[in-house]
Amino acid sequence: MFDFTLHSPVQELHYSGFKSSTIKIFVKRDDLIHPYISGNKGRKLTYLLKDAEQKGYKNIVTFGGAYSNHLIATACAGALFGFKTTGFVRGEKTEPLNDTLFLCTQFGMQLIYVDRDTYRNKKNVFETHFSQTTHYLISEGGEHALAVNGVAELVTELDNHFTHIFCACGTGTTLAGIAKGVHQHKLKTAVEGVAVLKGADFLHQTIQNYTHENGYKLHLDFHEGGYAKTTTELLAFMVHFQKETGILLDPVYTGKLFFAFSKLIQTKYFPIGSSILLIHTGGLLGTLGMKDKF
Ligand SMILES: *Cc1c(COP(=O)(O)O)cnc(C)c1O
Repeated sequence: MFDFTLHSPVQELHYSGFKSSTIKIFVKRDDLIHPYISGNKGRKLTYLLKDAEQKGYKNIVTFGGAYSNHLIATACAGALFGFKTTGFVRGEKTEPLNDTLFLCTQFGMQLIYVDRDTYRNKKNVFETHFSQTTHYLISEGGEHALAVNGVAELVTELDNHFTHIFCACGTGTTLAGIAKGVHQHKLKTAVEGVAVLKGADFLHQTIQNYTHENGYKLHLDFHEGGYAKTTTELLAFMVHFQKETGILLDPVYTGKLFFAFSKLIQTKYFPIGSSILLIHTGGLLGTLGMKDKF
């Protein structure tokens, strides 16, 4: 049932904006795993869906914003693996539906709109509609210990040694998974995350809850104004990068990761001989919700 091969390619990146003769740069193309069960969202869902199946659930319920990569991944994976899915959407219903929510409904997901205040108490929202005995609850963004284990498998796919692995951080689950994988394989790789939210100190708590170690590093100053906020510099960087490499980014996560990376190179952050792996965590539908920013 869950024969969903996630092995994504690692490609060397030659981009003029990252030009450096002293380091090598690679991208793990998790964006190529699947168009909708994208990147880290697919990895996070693998063991959660297995768990739901083993416990005999037929229904999956989860939460997300109107542009949530997690909602669309859950909708598509649910359809693929035979679950009925329901998504609680933060905020009012819009007509017409945006691209993300439209695709969620195409995969059969039932959408229930919840105003922002009510949405905050997710346990309450869930319990007013469903019961834990019949409906398997997946938290917003897929944050869970099982999701961390799913992401950790990314590390088993790596054939070469990297001095650094970089990823974007929302909830920190993905970084926790990579740190866990690196630890399990006893690798000497620095695991570093770029926070996409402002004031993201809370990430330390989340990551340490799941990994019980602190062999990782967070960059908290590359959020470009906060979650889903953009700057002209960020957008200009993305357009230049995409045009030259043929790799699409999104302004919320991977755009900020790659932009932060370009700034770190400029400050000569990386020692000579570094071999750096950037994780492209997918989520490209998000860009379609931000067309008017470009
Ligand atoms: C959700 C998401 C992230 C953030 O992952 P966390 O595990 O919540 O830190 C990063 N990149 C993309 C493209 C995402 O959709």
